[in-house]
Amino acid sequence: MRYNIVMGYQVLYRTYRPAKFSEVVGQKYIVKTLLNAIKKNRIAHAYLFAGPRGTGKTSVAKLFAKAINCENFKEESCDTCKNCLAYLEGSHPDIIELDAASNNGIDDIREIIEQVPYAPLLGKYKVYIIDEVHMLTTQAFNALLKTLEEPPAHVIFIFATTDPQKVIPTVLSRCQRYNFSKISTFEIKKKTMEILEKEGIAYEEKAVEELARMAEGGMRDALSLLEQCLAYNPDEVTLEDVEHIFGLTSVKEEVSLFTDIHSNHVSDVIGRLRNMYTQGMDTKRLAVDLLEIVKDALIYSDQGKDTLLNRLTAAEAQEILNLTTTDDLLKDARDLEETVSKEKQNQNFLVYLELCLIKMAGRNKAAAEKVQPIKESVTEPVKETEEKKTTEPEPEQEPVIEEPVEEVEPIIEYNTDFLLSILLDANRDLKINDQIIYNKLDLYRYESDKRKFYQLLIGTELFASNKDAIIICGNKTQADTINTRSTNEELYDFLNEEFGIDKMVYGIDEDRKKQLISLYKKTPEEKRNRPVYIEKYTRKKTENQTQEDRLRDLFGDRVKVEE
Ligand SMILES: [Zn+2]
Repeated sequence: MRYNIVMGYQVLYRTYRPAKFSEVVGQKYIVKTLLNAIKKNRIAHAYLFAGPRGTGKTSVAKLFAKAINCENFKEESCDTCKNCLAYLEGSHPDIIELDAASNNGIDDIREIIEQVPYAPLLGKYKVYIIDEVHMLTTQAFNALLKTLEEPPAHVIFIFATTDPQKVIPTVLSRCQRYNFSKISTFEIKKKTMEILEKEGIAYEEKAVEELARMAEGGMRDALSLLEQCLAYNPDEVTLEDVEHIFGLTSVKEEVSLFTDIHSNHVSDVIGRLRNMYTQGMDTKRLAVDLLEIVKDALIYSDQGKDTLLNRLTAAEAQEILNLTTTDDLLKDARDLEETVSKEKQNQNFLVYLELCLIKMAGRNKAAAEKVQPIKESVTEPVKETEEKKTTEPEPEQEPVIEEPVEEVEPIIEYNTDFLLSILLDANRDLKINDQIIYNKLDLYRYESDKRKFYQLLIGTELFASNKDAIIICGNKTQADTINTRSTNEELYDFLNEEFGIDKMVYGIDEDRKKQLISLYKKTPEEKRNRPVYIEKYTRKKTENQTQEDRLRDLFGDRVKVEE
């Protein structure tokens, strides 16, 4: 089979629409649940398939309608019985499709409803598939509702919608609801390559990956993008063509732009950006791509593994990490994310993107002249805590630290005597109990809101435990992060909630550990095992999202290892 341009738009999608449950891309759990319902003969009277466009709602609805009418159904429809044959010819009299986007009035619905009481002509069930059901008028909805209240045994409704919020609650409450999720880039890529192979069209894998990324979770979108490429060049799908057709910038260009931003050549950056713009670059895409680059660099900074990188190679990630700090990258991510979110409301998106890049470059400038701002930010919180000591009786009030130009969170410095006193009171049994953290740490690796604790603790060791405290040893950065006030409180909450460990956590590095061990050895036996008073946090988790939380929200799902 050879792809034929003359056949026109969306032909691939139609040709490769799943003909079997096993061919449905993504939506594994939905398919499984529906299959079980068919096997156990527990079919509901109304289904709502909700989810983004191109995720297979209508395809699954059709397969389901076919399956419940098939006379020899086992895992898949038989494709040989009279019901299957009628379906395959597109003329099954009992499978009725209505697109509510174009037929949304009371008359359209009335026509359907009038037919409802009559028995099916050919199959066991009359199945009404109503696409974009949220587009129905209120009148039409109300008419439908009456039928839904007392449906005849042979009638099944399947409603599909991209906008379930707009479906009236009384209809929703009568439906079994299935939420179709966006299809992963990996699965879209795999399916697209399969199709290209069947069509005998050469392709570069990178090119297909770009198309899959652009499709943002919709298989149909991916295939229409592919069709646009094939209209341009029917023989081969190359990365160069894809970039050209859709105004994409190459990863190379993006990394180089990023390098410019972080080398602080604002005018160069803006010059380049405008140049790319006049060449037809998609500005929103660029902003999203830069965000992905930042994400990749952050992932790489964690453990130096390249298996989780989407866009960058390990070398490119390292190049970026050499230029900037992870703190700045987190700020870049925040700025870019805010900018991307403005895209929908603003026609002149270029201005926002320019401002964002200027801001990113400016931050770098501030960092270059960092002596001043950083000094201020370090001394200020100390003052605050001193003040707090003297005005003790206002315990509820958090010290309000004005955000300095460069936000640097203070690291709490614990003195060695205090840490030594914990060590002197520590014991082995408590330590073994607390080791549970490390045994279960892997569980949090792919949990978007808790991954940061995994990242923080991986590679560290539990050095000592007493009744109220644990001391964790890691490298300098890990120790400093653990001792940063906000992280420390979050870590305390995390250990408490996930492991039932109600203890304060102190971070030390290797040097401190050696120092503590040597002091411990010098301490006479009688001074050991003396209780230490440790004050724990009392307050609940902060309401305010930290930058990292925002980042997790942004990338949470995408970081998952696919397959
Ligand atoms: Zn059949």
